[in-house]
Amino acid sequence: RGKRSGKNCVRVFDPSITADMQEWNHLKNALKCAIENNELSVAFQPQIELRSGRVVGFEALARWLSLDLGHITPERFIPIAEAAGMIDQVSQSVVAQSLNLIQQWTEEQRKALYVAINISTHQLHDATFVSRIKQQVREAGIPCHCIELEITETSIMQDIDIALTALRELSEAGFRLAIDDFGTGYCNLSYLKQMNVERLKIDSSFVRDMNASNSDGKIVQAIIALSHSLGLEVTAEGVEHPDQVELLHAMGCEQAQGYYFAKPMPAEHVQIYLDPDMSNVTPITSRKP
Ligand code: C2E
Ligand code: MG
Ligand code: MG
Ligand code: MG
Repeated sequence: RGKRSGKNCVRVFDPSITADMQEWNHLKNALKCAIENNELSVAFQPQIELRSGRVVGFEALARWLSLDLGHITPERFIPIAEAAGMIDQVSQSVVAQSLNLIQQWTEEQRKALYVAINISTHQLHDATFVSRIKQQVREAGIPCHCIELEITETSIMQDIDIALTALRELSEAGFRLAIDDFGTGYCNLSYLKQMNVERLKIDSSFVRDMNASNSDGKIVQAIIALSHSLGLEVTAEGVEHPDQVELLHAMGCEQAQGYYFAKPMPAEHVQIYLDPDMSNVTPITSRKP
């Protein structure tokens, strides 16, 4: 009998959907409490300039350690925060913790380093977002060039006119701009020039299995060539092996980020990566073959 239920049959009860909705609601309520109780933290992951082996920036990544539920990944809670109207609060906490970190830097470090913050679709299309983040950064006494904003292709293409206006205003305010997860979304390449971005981040899915002759390697090479022809720099995400570092460097990729260099870490550990004597990042030029 079950086999006979065709596509016109409406299923009034699907236990898996109900379970998903229950879990979603549970996480949504837990996230609301977590925000109120300041349970959200930020982990910072270094971005390395391949030419010199130096740390040039850190990506701020939201972390949620719940007393009841344990670690919950951003891939689970960011979409909930977006859908439930809580992404602003999550982001304000990430921005505030990033500004705290930058406040500990010297003048010299503020000139040379930045913190990269992920911006979600909802934020980019919120008419008040640009003025609010400008104000938050100004009130902390931090120059905007210490902050890079990472935006995905998908969120830009949601409403290209609104996105281009927001990107122009952010760029004029002095923020650095990067396109995140490049290659995985749909991006109209003709807009790339108008976007005021200075960097493309190649998605880790292309970096993971790349080698000099396979298709992922060719895609990476093509993205680097495209970026350079538009005057953009490239950061490779998800770099885990020395072979990837060598190949990316040979391909002309400027920067890399990944477990090979360092995992995302609490703010207290960041300083170690800024002290040249203690840097455990080996410059490409001095690495043995
Ligand atoms: P993303 O912005 O593309 O961040 C890079 C992700 O790759 C991070 O995952 C990072 O921990 C992970 N990663 C870095 N190096 C490696 C590596 O070598 N190997 C592997 N396997 N993974 C690596 P994470 O922290 O779980 O964040 C996932 C996504 O959640 C981020 O992807 C971003 O889209 C989103 N996200 C995180 N924090 C925020 C936030 O504050 N706001 C918004 N809107 N989204 C956020
Ligand atoms: Mg990112
Ligand atoms: Mg990414
Ligand atoms: Mg990603």
